[in-house]
Amino acid sequence: MSEPQIVRTKIVATVGPVSRAEEPLQTLVAAGVDVFRLNMAHGSIAEHQETLDRIRRVSDAAGRPIGVLVDLAGPKIRLGELPGGAVECVEGAEITFVSGTAAGPGEFTTTYEPLVKELAVGDAVMLADGTVSLVVEERRADRARCRVVQGGIVRSRQGVNLPGVKLSVAAMSAADWQHAEWAAAAGADFVSLSFVRSAVEVKLLKELLRTRGSRARVVAKIEKREALDNLDSIVEAADVVMVARGDLGVEIDVAGMPMVQKQIIRVCQRWQKPVIVATQMLDSMQHSRRPTRAETTDVANAILDGADACMLSGETAIGDHPRLAVEMMRRIAAATERQYLADRWQYLEGRFGRDETGAAVAAVEFPPPPSKLVEGLHPITQAVVDGAGRIAAELDAKLVVVASKSGVTAIARSKRRGAVPTVGVSDSPATLRQMALYWGVTPLAMDGWADTSDLLERVTAWGLAAGRLRRGDRILLVAGTGFGAGGHNMAVVHEV
Ligand code: PEP
Repeated sequence: MSEPQIVRTKIVATVGPVSRAEEPLQTLVAAGVDVFRLNMAHGSIAEHQETLDRIRRVSDAAGRPIGVLVDLAGPKIRLGELPGGAVECVEGAEITFVSGTAAGPGEFTTTYEPLVKELAVGDAVMLADGTVSLVVEERRADRARCRVVQGGIVRSRQGVNLPGVKLSVAAMSAADWQHAEWAAAAGADFVSLSFVRSAVEVKLLKELLRTRGSRARVVAKIEKREALDNLDSIVEAADVVMVARGDLGVEIDVAGMPMVQKQIIRVCQRWQKPVIVATQMLDSMQHSRRPTRAETTDVANAILDGADACMLSGETAIGDHPRLAVEMMRRIAAATERQYLADRWQYLEGRFGRDETGAAVAAVEFPPPPSKLVEGLHPITQAVVDGAGRIAAELDAKLVVVASKSGVTAIARSKRRGAVPTVGVSDSPATLRQMALYWGVTPLAMDGWADTSDLLERVTAWGLAAGRLRRGDRILLVAGTGFGAGGHNMAVVHEV
């Protein structure tokens, strides 16, 4: 039997009108989606509940744990209604933001009532995804007069970005609270918060979910300058991070985006937090069957930067070719990983690697070792996981197996980006669905095992049946003698 292709980078796909029915969801799972995102900025709770139920059914039928990420809109400011639905902002013309909901000619309202009070002369206001820009020239109690610097068409309810402006808006609106409560009740696997500015906001959402009995992992979407200013503490507080390039690319100079992406990913590596790179990854595939060269390069570069997952937005939510977009992302990931792992082989797993003759050699570590422990992980477990990875590389093992109740051991293994694939075993469906996001980890459901030998036997049987193992292959098992709750203090080498 030929070895099934293992793609380590995970794919997050946004669900929308073209993908929310059962059949397209099935197609996208078969194409390689690991996690679906429900965008709460659109649709009703009842619709999202139906979609979530369908995803669970499709996941069960496919026999593959699929995560669900509920994305809260956060304090996004939008334009009010415009006459005729759209207005042209002519370069050099004046546009005035007014309080309230009624606007006359040349006036705009927004969904954020205090906006006018919080703007200052000289502030930039970006509209239409950053394609239209204004600058505030005069501010009065109930209005802010702006000059159009770069003109274009703006439409009703489009987003308003205010680069560098510190707003007093609450981190979560009443709708966000309602959506978070629903996410907790519905058993969402991840809940993301848009426009995060500080660690306190992440902790607030964590507390809300915890007090409602949810185990959902909180994703901090980095899309504001203030988030970059507080990056270290936000990443520390979050469970997962998203480089939300759509809004971030408007809130900061878009020319700086590539290096900011690398910076965010580096901080996530240090804190051992899974990180998703999002937005416009294969944007042209909304209407084209093939991506541009620049897009394929973008996906590959995100993986080389250290992204654990890449996200599709419009491509799978409203695009003409959702399946092709997922298949393409998977193919790019496979091709990138093949070369990346070959090039990095001599650096992998810490001290041991192989030179071109196949001999074990001492090596420089890449990526740099995480300097922080995964939250909830015992330092002994971290050391054993790292040791198991090195042994696996030295012995050319085929699998590293980690049994994980909460999934933290799987994160520690994943963030090493080892070449030897990982199987994350758990008896918890929620943990398995979260593992679906972790780079290089294949979630494997297994009910209570008697002891280490029993676990090894059952993983081996699965590996043989799935074509992931052959007789004579070696596997590494990270296990424990029960030294502490969830702790692992043992690495076992097994020859099939
Ligand atoms: C983004 O801004 O890149 C993003 C992922 O958020 P949204 O799609 O909610 O705008």
